[in-house]
Parts: sequence; C-alpha cells; structure tokens
Amino acid sequence: MLIDLSELFFIKGKAKEYTVPLELEIFCDGMNDYKVADRELVRLVITNQGDRVFAVTGETRLSLWIPCARCLEPVKVPFLLEFDQELDLNLTDEARMADLNEQFYLNGCSLDIDQLVSSELMLNLPMRVLCSDNCKGICNRCGTNLNRGACDCAGKSLDPRMSVIQDIFKQLKEV
Ligand SMILES: [Zn+2]
Ligand SMILES: [Zn+2]
Repeated sequence: MLIDLSELFFIKGKAKEYTVPLELEIFCDGMNDYKVADRELVRLVITNQGDRVFAVTGETRLSLWIPCARCLEPVKVPFLLEFDQELDLNLTDEARMADLNEQFYLNGCSLDIDQLVSSELMLNLPMRVLCSDNCKGICNRCGTNLNRGACDCAGKSLDPRMSVIQDIFKQLKEV
C-alpha cells in the first residue's frame, strides 16, 4: 500500500488522516523470516509542514510468529508500533544514506506502508523470545521437545564417542 504524499502538497499546515490496510505477510529482519499472525489497519496522520517536509505519526498493532529460542516452537508475539517520522522529500537518496537515515519506506513521493511498518518492527524486535520462562528446550541429542515429555538420553552414556574411548580403555586393561 502506497500513500502518494503529493496529494498533501496543497494542504499546507494541515493534516490528513489515513486508515490503511497492511499487506505485509512475512517480515524479514535480514536473516530470518517471520510470518505475520494477525494485523490491524494502520492509522496515520500525515501533516504537511511545508517546504516538502512531512510529519508522520500513528500506530498499528500486529503479531508475528517467532520461534522460541529454546524449543523452536512458534510463539505469537504482539507488537504495538508507534510511528513518529519526519519525511524530507528534499533529501536525495544519497543524502539519506550518508545520513544513516535510510528511509526505505520513502520512494519518491510515495510512502510505502509495509516498509514503514517493517522498519518500525526492526527496532522493536526482541533479542530473544521464549514460549515460557521455564521452557525446557529440546534435547540436543535426540531433538525431543522436553516440554512435551522426557527422553531417555540423560540415562544413556554421555556421548557415543566417549563409549568408544571407554571400550579402548577396557581393552587396554584386559591386555
Ligand atoms: Zn520454548
Ligand atoms: Zn534426548
């Protein structure tokens, strides 16, 4: 969904309200893809501040499926995203990059809503998500989700390579 900012050029000092759908289905943080679990309409107020500068404020809610850091089960993580951006259409793309203020959501005179939401999600993404504080994780030997049931790996010898070494020791003793 694109909002054409040029329609605001002639409403100096005035704001326009927008309620627009989010089309984003997959959010990519550059490494991983996360499915959007649910989303609401994006509410924005765009104010023409004059001289091709716009202020964007607003908010939306959505949730993403993010795998638990321990057991990898998807966890529905809710986000409340608040926008407060200044869009300066006078800046060239080069100037924006040099400024480390890369507004990918600004494309010529168009504001890309999916990109705006993505860039705000990027800032709000938690370092680590757990399905619960006492998630037991997965067994690193057999892959069993230990929240669903125990495996018997702990009862067996620590490492199959160790048992080979133990056998060698046994043979040495027997000689
Ligand atoms: Zn978990
Ligand atoms: Zn196991």
